[in-house]
Amino acid sequence: MTKKITCVTCPMGCPITVEISDSGEIISVSGNTCPRGKTYAENEITHPQRSLATTVRVEGGVHNVVPCKSAGPLPKEKIFDCMEAINKARANAPVALGDVLVENVCGTGVNIVATNHCPAKI
Ligand code: SF4
Repeated sequence: MTKKITCVTCPMGCPITVEISDSGEIISVSGNTCPRGKTYAENEITHPQRSLATTVRVEGGVHNVVPCKSAGPLPKEKIFDCMEAINKARANAPVALGDVLVENVCGTGVNIVATNHCPAKI
């Protein structure tokens, strides 16, 4: 089987072709301009991951939400579960940049952290 992937590791966006055996093993990777593309393609086939950027609702803040992101990549198959957990989460103002808003989201070992601050409402 042949799988076409666009490497998103850098803005070059190289088109990569991965040949996969019937048993699911990677036979070859081509089209990558640098070694990072090979690693990206291999990970995309064996355990795809995604970073997540969204918002968490804030109680008692000058804003209703604060932007946040995953502190590391999350398994792709858990992205929707993670979004659900983040949607249910509430942060209490004040929120500081870098605060952990959801710890170990969905058992992934990855924290969801604030990427901005939100002062408390006076
Ligand atoms: S293969 Fe290398 S050069 Fe091409 S997009 Fe990926 S990281 Fe960038």
